[in-house]
Parts: sequence; C-alpha cells; structure tokens
Amino acid sequence: MKISEKARTIRPFLVMEVLERAEHLERQGIDIVHMEVGEPDFDTPQCVVDQAVSALREGKTHYTHSMGRLELRRAIVRTHAERYGCEVSPDRVVVTSGSSPALLLAFMTVCDPGDEIILTNPYYACYPGLITFGQGRPVFVDVHEEDGFQYRTEAVRARIGQHTRAILINSPSNPTGNLLSDEVMQEIADLGVLVISDEIYHGLVYEGRARSILEFTDEAIVINGFSKLFAMTGWRLGYAILPEGLVRPFQKMQQNFFISAGDFTQEAARIALGGCTEELERMRLEYDRRRRLVLRRLRAMGIEIAVEPRGAFYVFCNMKDICAKTGLNSYDLAFDILERARLAVTPGTDFGPGGEGYIRLSYATKYERIEEGMNRLERYLGGVS
Ligand code: PMP
Repeated sequence: MKISEKARTIRPFLVMEVLERAEHLERQGIDIVHMEVGEPDFDTPQCVVDQAVSALREGKTHYTHSMGRLELRRAIVRTHAERYGCEVSPDRVVVTSGSSPALLLAFMTVCDPGDEIILTNPYYACYPGLITFGQGRPVFVDVHEEDGFQYRTEAVRARIGQHTRAILINSPSNPTGNLLSDEVMQEIADLGVLVISDEIYHGLVYEGRARSILEFTDEAIVINGFSKLFAMTGWRLGYAILPEGLVRPFQKMQQNFFISAGDFTQEAARIALGGCTEELERMRLEYDRRRRLVLRRLRAMGIEIAVEPRGAFYVFCNMKDICAKTGLNSYDLAFDILERARLAVTPGTDFGPGGEGYIRLSYATKYERIEEGMNRLERYLGGVS
C-alpha cells in the first residue's frame, strides 16, 4: 500500500515514545516518576464538569455553529478584553477542537506550497508537522539559552523573504518556559509580517506578565485553548482570533474538515472562562511551588540554569556536560535516565536540533513525586560523574 511522503516522513512525537516505554516498565511493576508529559496532573475544576453534565442532560449534544457557540465566543472576547485591554468582535473568533486544529487551520489559511513560516529552534515539537501539513515550509531561527531562548529580532529579520507568510511566537514557551519581553514582541510586531501567536500557556505565569500579540498589532492570529490553564486537555477545545479578512477562509475549512467543536464542551468552557478563579489560582501557585523546587534541586546538583523559566510548566535543562561525560546524545540520555533512574524525561531533540544537549522536565506532576524524581536524578548523576 502506498503511504504518502508526508505521512512517511512526519517525525514521531518523542515524548509519547518515552511515555509508552515508561508505561511498559510500569506494567512490569517498576515505579516510574513522570516528568515527561506536558499535561496538567490536576482534574478539570468541578464547576466546569458540573456545567458539562447539565449541558449533556439539556441535550447540548449536536453540531454547533461552525465558528462555535456565540455565548462562548462572547466570553472569549470578554476575557481577552479584561486580561489585555484589547477589544475584539466575537465575529473574529473561531472555536476549534483544541488549539492543535486551530494551528493547522491557521497555516492552511495563509500558506500555498513553498510559503514559509518562521519559528524558533528549539520549538514545540508539533509545529513543523502542522506547518508542513498546512502547506507551509518551516524556516528556523536559532534561539539561545543565554538570551532566555528569546528571538533576536535581527536574526528573524534576516530570514524574512518574499515567501514569508508569518512569524510564529509562543510565549510562555514549550519547551523552555520562557516569556518574550515586551520589547521583542513589539519589534516582531513591527516587522510587518503576520504574527501567529500561540498563547496556550497564558495564565500559567509566575514572574512578569504574558502579553497578547493583539496588544502590539492587529496583523496577528491568536491561538489559545482550554487544555493547559483550565486542565482540560481531554476536552479538546481551543480557538483562534483572526484578522477580519482571514475569518471566512478559516471558517470554510473548519466546516469542511471538523464541522464544529463539541457542543456540551463549549457550553462548559464558557463557565471555565467566567468562573473558577480560585481553582485556577490554586493550580498556578502549586505549579510555581514545584517550579521553585525543581530549580533549587537542579542547582544543588550543579546544573546551571542560565535564565529561569517564568511560565508554562517546563524546565529546559542543559545536560551538555553530562552528555559529554557519558558520550550519550540527549535522546539516549533521556532513555538511560528512564531505564536506570526510573525517571521519565523528554529528550531535547524532540524540540529540534537546537534542543540537543537538553532534557525537558515537566513539573505538571505532584510535588512529592517531583521530590522523588529529583532524588533519582541526583543519584543518577552521582553515578555518572
Ligand atoms: N501549543 C503548545 C505550545 C503546546 O504545548 C500544546 C500542547 N502540548 C499545544 C499547542 C496543543 O494543545 P491542545 O491541542 O491540547 O490545545
């Protein structure tokens, strides 16, 4: 059977391979500490679950408007106005089945074959596949630990050419936990190219403030969703806020490929945006406590963190010395840590060649388990040095 070039060559999501190996070990009765997966360990806030159950009982089990329920789109723009002071019409919002489809549709909306999307290296692992399947070509700009993995605007400018369709930003970022500074966001907005801003980690910020790209320019697509901040990964709900001229083409593709996002899930998400402030703050404070634990423990092990991550729930951890000592690349190192230390971490190369020499630690895991994971890492490092 013929398999398409794109399907053959898309890279596996390495974090899933680590998880699958970890689960295999667990089936043999081995205890594994999970710090690989970028998924909140918290359950969805109760008020959102209750609303979903009522919505189901009320028969909200149908297709919705392809752009999403108007009440939810209104709640989205209200939240955007409260958080960032940007007034947007609900007619510019399309609700999708997660932010992943929103990203795919965004690339499909702006790219013809050969068109280019600029993004960082390292990057969120799924971006290149989404861009490629959206007809675009990823063009990478290296970002560096000593800059807190921020774009250098000059390096971005140097990659802009006649085929450039958009610059992709992700702040706070996966895998680095970095926040873009206001200056860099302004400079990128001023480059005169459409900016696609993946704001999925907004709200999970521990120092400073995440700014929406719409505070800097209207020539932008905002991508966001409910997975991370609201601990709603399994609900598959996200959205895009688009410039007026892009809404209709984006919507037509949504109609063709996904029809609409879920009905009762949208009804519940409206409540998530309006309420559960206390639960959100409780989760945020707990993530921050874990973040400080991981940073403290890593530093005590002699692992230098040049710029502290300030958002999301990741520490991108420089293991270049350990790689040099062991002769392992970051992929083999991650699996060695899993097999020998029983700690699951993500190899940096999942996030592109710029991630070589790094591992990503996710602190979306219980505090006590993180302590245990750090003990295991410490023992492992003691064994290799
Ligand atoms: N963007 C980034 C940066 C992510 O880390 C993720 C999830 N890992 C997504 C998008 C996709 O999230 P979802 O499809 O669950 O909304």
